Amino acid sequence: MGKRRIAILGSTGSIGTQALDVIRQHRDLFEVELISAYRSTELLCAQAREFDANSVVICDEALYKEVSDSLWNTDSKVFAGVESLCELVKGDNIDIVVGAMVGFSGLRPTLAALEASKIVALANKETLVAAGGIVTRTAREHNAAILPVDSEHSAIFQCLLGAQGNELVKIHLTASGGPFRTWSRERIAGASAADALKHPNWDMGAKVTIDSATMMNKGLELIEACWLFDVVPSMVNVVVHPESIVHSMVEFADGAVIAQLGCPDMREPIGLALSFPARLTVGNRKLDFASLGALHFESPDEERFPNLGIARRAFERGGNIPCAMNAANEVAVKAFLEGRTSFYGITDIIEKSVSGATFVADPTLDDIFSTHEETIRCAKELIR
Ligand code: MG
Repeated sequence: MGKRRIAILGSTGSIGTQALDVIRQHRDLFEVELISAYRSTELLCAQAREFDANSVVICDEALYKEVSDSLWNTDSKVFAGVESLCELVKGDNIDIVVGAMVGFSGLRPTLAALEASKIVALANKETLVAAGGIVTRTAREHNAAILPVDSEHSAIFQCLLGAQGNELVKIHLTASGGPFRTWSRERIAGASAADALKHPNWDMGAKVTIDSATMMNKGLELIEACWLFDVVPSMVNVVVHPESIVHSMVEFADGAVIAQLGCPDMREPIGLALSFPARLTVGNRKLDFASLGALHFESPDEERFPNLGIARRAFERGGNIPCAMNAANEVAVKAFLEGRTSFYGITDIIEKSVSGATFVADPTLDDIFSTHEETIRCAKELIR
């Protein structure tokens, strides 16, 4: 088989750089065809040179000249804007598209890749939260595969490989509990962005790290699991597991539970999505059970972490409501990172924005975009 030709949407972020690290270890298996970034020009140009990328897209069009000047003496062709990205991911020169953009911005290019029947290695969970119905329908209609990169969903996907046609009855979605797992509600209420950015186990981008501290990340992942594995929220049991060794589990009718374990390192699920069904070495640490000693599990506390319940209820209401919730969360997390709202301010902003959203039961893509934009406006107003 020839080399797999890869496009990485969001190559300078946490997932993007780790995907390139996996590729760096297996240059004989992969060709980097396309990389894109929103604004990190310096790293993007360095990646273009190292991996000899054919196409380089800078999404912020104002930075086009900087990137194209920097890469003038290379073979890389430089493009600007999300529209170019949507065209380029459809190219015949691409086999796998890694969706590693942050937040709602990944929706359009992900849909473009699915429409072109690409394999999409999806890390960008917000895409499924905001428009899961449209995204999964597009994948089905175009015979495009979505391979999960999110560690929990990669775990569930791997556990289901052993199902042999048996229906799963429950997903046990593990959560680290984040940096505030043992903090009181009062102490959490005064937490700063710096406190929230200290994730105990995972090395991730700022957005997902804050989402992890509020447990909105687990709420988004619950919705992601419902779309990816065609289950209802009552079949998803969120369980806090502070060691982050069990990446998630599936349960069958006979009570048998199959788990996937590993040291917390995103290169493992990324590597599997890039090389599936083959497994690659990815340079991660291996488990040493004797030194681990014990693994712990506990129920999530929705008093201290209300966002998990908000996400579940948003999905149960359905339609465009998860999209509104996601948009409000994106605005609120940004405000929290900038010190403009408190930790529980995030929850307030989401709740008020969602209750203000106009319900659309079966949203079109246009409805999704207008819900996103309207909710952003409403959430920004609330912060002001
Ligand atoms: Mg995850």
